[in-house]
Amino acid sequence: MSTSEVVEPHRICVCVRKRPMNKQEMQKKEIDVVSVPGKGALLVHEPKQKVDLTKYLENQVFQFDYSFDETVSNDLVYRFTARPLVKSIFEGGMATCFAYGQTGSGKTHTMGGDFTGKQQNNASGIYALAAQDVFTYRTHWKYSQLDLCVYASFFEIYNGKVYDLLNKKAKLRVLEDERQQVQVVGLEEVYVTSADEVIKLIQTGSACRTSGQTSANANSSRSHAILQIVLRRNDRNSTLHGKFSLIDLAGNERGMDVSSNDRSTLVETAEINRSLLALKECIRSLGKNSDHIPFRLSTLTKVLRDSFIGEKSRTCMIAMVSPSMASCDYTMNTLRYADRVKEL
Ligand code: ADP
Ligand code: MG
Repeated sequence: MSTSEVVEPHRICVCVRKRPMNKQEMQKKEIDVVSVPGKGALLVHEPKQKVDLTKYLENQVFQFDYSFDETVSNDLVYRFTARPLVKSIFEGGMATCFAYGQTGSGKTHTMGGDFTGKQQNNASGIYALAAQDVFTYRTHWKYSQLDLCVYASFFEIYNGKVYDLLNKKAKLRVLEDERQQVQVVGLEEVYVTSADEVIKLIQTGSACRTSGQTSANANSSRSHAILQIVLRRNDRNSTLHGKFSLIDLAGNERGMDVSSNDRSTLVETAEINRSLLALKECIRSLGKNSDHIPFRLSTLTKVLRDSFIGEKSRTCMIAMVSPSMASCDYTMNTLRYADRVKEL
């Protein structure tokens, strides 16, 4: 990249969110090893052992655009992460917001895609908050004359295959044409007129996601769920104006648990690793304004190709971490990944 090129600030925003201790962790008297001293900094007190086997805690310091501690609400996280991106799609941009982290770290809680649980506080997740803002912005004087229509799709990627959550989990093909345009053939794109309609679709889709699986929880943590809010002009071709992809990524345990002998689990893990590595590379190329975006490396990055190109593309990654010492290795893993994403 030449020095004369100015990289627009905040094209990539990388944040971290620490979840509170849960009941089990408290019962086990787990030690909280993560602290957020402020100004985007996050500290991990990593347990280490000396050669003489004495144990000590080593402080690892990370710096992100924002670091949210366990007292921060979904609403606040949303305001600093996804909200600026909603505006950017009205300006004709492509936006992506990723929730990244180990299973159980709070990805689905943050995105608000869990409608299967008993607690129905999901309406206040990022999915719903973004949908609400889309409809608010649409009536704003600056954007109302654009006459935009809103559409939503919701699908999952499991083992490199795309399944439509708004159409009975139909398996869809991903095709690339000669102009490198990527299409998910037959993906249901539903015309929506209110945030409530979007929430209903997520509800239906989430139920569809977990149905017919022996262990719903385990399986949904092994797939990426992608909600897309699409703005199209109200013209003959329904010209694409902007698109916001909100992604609840598969758990990044990344075969750190290598105890499995099960072939299908190993294949799953390899596929997840591959897509998460590809994602990191694509975001990094976006940050460097590089011409070469290695989007072909995985299905996830293929379907998001649109979002990694173009001047107006913006992305936000929220890395989720658990507070407990027992999760420390996973936490460090997540933070190192997030650190690499933000690094230019
Ligand atoms: P993941 O999707 O990353 O596997 P979940 O979002 O399902 O993790 O979170 C695991 C559990 O922790 C859920 O019961 C969820 O409600 C709870 N949880 C996660 N983050 C928070 C938070 N910030 N505040 C309160 N509870 C949370
Ligand atoms: Mg989840």
